[in-house]
Amino acid sequence: MITPTDVAIMQHLVEYTMQSYYTYRVGAFIVKPDTLELLGAAQRSFRVYETYADIRHAEITAILTTGNRCAGSTLFTTLEPCNHRRTKKRDTGIPLVPYQSCTDAIIASGIRRVVVGMIDPNPAIQGRSIEHLIQHGIAVEVIGTNCPELDEGIIAFSEKT
Ligand SMILES: [Zn+2]
Repeated sequence: MITPTDVAIMQHLVEYTMQSYYTYRVGAFIVKPDTLELLGAAQRSFRVYETYADIRHAEITAILTTGNRCAGSTLFTTLEPCNHRRTKKRDTGIPLVPYQSCTDAIIASGIRRVVVGMIDPNPAIQGRSIEHLIQHGIAVEVIGTNCPELDEGIIAFSEKT
């Protein structure tokens, strides 16, 4: 069930994500459901992981920085998490460890609920990741980002690739 709190947190997440300097912007918050404590936050251009920025997604960065505290938490993400099995490294030579996809990371982390802004328009995903998470017992809500500029950047990226 979507709550007014979900909508408010997503709005904060969208504002945070729009601070990213990429056109293709994705952001993630990890929130403790009872206290609403913000346990972790990442944008795709999160400064600490700048050298990883083109390979490590916001959801994985947020999960890695939150660590064990992910258990029982809620992940807010502006975009449906990826379900890709990435096999090749980029030129940086940095291995794509420890997770192959954001859905793998979510399932392994103990996150219990995922609130998604936008369903990924990429034909390879388009709701498949959400189905995958639900099959693993994770509650998923899709609430929209209410931010056309953010969504248009994702759509443009999706059409380009
Ligand atoms: Zn991802």
